[in-house]
Amino acid sequence: MINKKKIDGKRVSSELKGWIRSEVLALSDQDRIVPKLAVILVGDNPASKVYVRSKSKTAQKMGIEISDYSLSSNISQKDLESLIEELNNDTQINGILLQLPLPDHLNTSFLLSKINPDKDVDALTPYNAGKLLSGTARLVPCTPLGSYILIKTRLEKLSGVNAVVVGRSLLFGKPMGQILLLENSTVTMTHSKTKNIKEHCKKADVLIVAAGRPQMVDASWVNKDSIIIDVGINRVSLGEDNYKIIGDVDFENVSKVVKAITPVPGGVGPMTIACLMFNTLTSAQIQNGISPFPWNELHSKLNI
Ligand code: NAP
Repeated sequence: MINKKKIDGKRVSSELKGWIRSEVLALSDQDRIVPKLAVILVGDNPASKVYVRSKSKTAQKMGIEISDYSLSSNISQKDLESLIEELNNDTQINGILLQLPLPDHLNTSFLLSKINPDKDVDALTPYNAGKLLSGTARLVPCTPLGSYILIKTRLEKLSGVNAVVVGRSLLFGKPMGQILLLENSTVTMTHSKTKNIKEHCKKADVLIVAAGRPQMVDASWVNKDSIIIDVGINRVSLGEDNYKIIGDVDFENVSKVVKAITPVPGGVGPMTIACLMFNTLTSAQIQNGISPFPWNELHSKLNI
């Protein structure tokens, strides 16, 4: 029963990566273009190191080349700006990934804004945020894109659907809301100052939660017809060096009520990495004058 409800991000991402890999191979065979991604990691945040390792490993499996820049946590703002400038001008580099969060002395939004928009594989520059707002984006932030594809595996038509987003960050909540608006959903954006948040969530046909609050959404927040996308990644200590990852939704109890739900781990997380690969392919195509595949049709490449 619960298995049928589970939206399996691992399986969907694996199908998506299969298609991306075939596109990358076609690009290198037919056009002699091998996409290359520069990955910048500042400092030694353990979670960031795990993410970067996993992204690099996946890229290599996809036929995407990686250039690693592991920098000291003391790097100055000026030196990091110079590196981004150098990578912007390097014609061999198609995508630039600046792993977040950065140490406090660095100005994250300014550094992101320095990335050439055509190489902005995280799609977090103001230029690409504006393109999404105006409905002309070719590069879309990876986690909202991955969440959108997961929703489309269960609900083909999003027009008129009541979608509720919990969280309004630039990284996730805001672009997620924009994607749903482009699909003609009726979007309710909620956040830490929202009154009666549970009542908003309960009315959702699609509920997307990205608050970073472990198991904030319990079974009393949802209805039997809703589709739940849990974006949260929360590390909960199990003592010593042990920890487990849980989402923002109480999966065990919520899954008994709703129509469909993503697990954590194994839901949105794997989709984020697959979408980063898609964006790297897209960046390589844009820089070589090739029309990229539209991000809002990616679900059509899945056999689900
Ligand atoms: P963020 O920048 O900290 O934003 C959190 C948002 O949630 C804010 O808008 C905040 O409201 C809202 N919020 C916090 N507590 C709330 C509450 N009790 N009720 C309602 N809203 C609340 O975080 P983020 O970068 O968007 O990430 C959110 C979560 O997603 C984190 O767990 C993160 O690890 C995870 N994440 C996962 C992936 C993935 O690949 N699966 C990728 C990115 C992020 P205010 O604006 O009012 O403060």
